[in-house]
Amino acid sequence: MPEIPDLEAIRGFLNQRLPGARIEEAEYRIPVVFRVTKDDFVDTLRGAEFGETQRRGKFLIFTLKSGHALVINAMLTGRFQYLRPDAKRHAKTCLALTLSSGWELRYVDQRLMGKIYLVPNDRLSEVPQFAEMGPDALGVSLAEFSERIVRFRGQIKSMLVNHKFIAGIGNAYADEILFAAKLHPYRKRTQLTDDEVERLHESIGKVFAWATPLVAEQMQEELNYEERRVFLKIHRLGGEPCPVCGTRISEITAGQRITNFCRNCQPG
Ligand SMILES: [Zn+2]
Repeated sequence: MPEIPDLEAIRGFLNQRLPGARIEEAEYRIPVVFRVTKDDFVDTLRGAEFGETQRRGKFLIFTLKSGHALVINAMLTGRFQYLRPDAKRHAKTCLALTLSSGWELRYVDQRLMGKIYLVPNDRLSEVPQFAEMGPDALGVSLAEFSERIVRFRGQIKSMLVNHKFIAGIGNAYADEILFAAKLHPYRKRTQLTDDEVERLHESIGKVFAWATPLVAEQMQEELNYEERRVFLKIHRLGGEPCPVCGTRISEITAGQRITNFCRNCQPG
């Protein structure tokens, strides 16, 4: 699932290339992921010129100078591609935009769980989840974080991935943030001291600042991004030694979510 480091790296890549490019052809290939009608979609996009790409939580917002915004939530398996038009298309290519710059922007989604919206720029709040989303996890102040956190109960990992609390953190980076903060994922929010809340807030910024350039390094001239998170310290490393203390990393699967943590560095 693309999370803030992935989406920020993609956004940086696209903002060096997309602004000013015009959409020559818009192909709407697999309708299941779209939340707009086909005619509106092609009519609105064809001829439109890209502005800046923005991000809010796990949504990428492609602004168009026509006053519209193409909004995509990639969910679990959505991937963005920026390739030459003759590059082979993945079978699950949902959207392909041929650009005046000689490139093609594609959205591919293996499990077709992502969502694509096309709305006027001033009506972004009508995109489902936008109205209820908390502040973006990248840039939320300690004051706002501390003020919001008291409204949530339950385990701190569940809270971190809840977009109503703060937006943009998924399962993988929640593990990394809790490891950096030395907090056990299943501790209750109500047990956290003020110092621990501050440490948690600080760790969010640190983990994203560390991971985003590492993701960006994987992108060359083309964007054909698969998540290769070889730099993670704890997530999906169950059974391996903790990079800090050497204790075997714990792994718990609940629902379909894997949680990894170090029992020594993150005491319960
Ligand atoms: Zn450890």
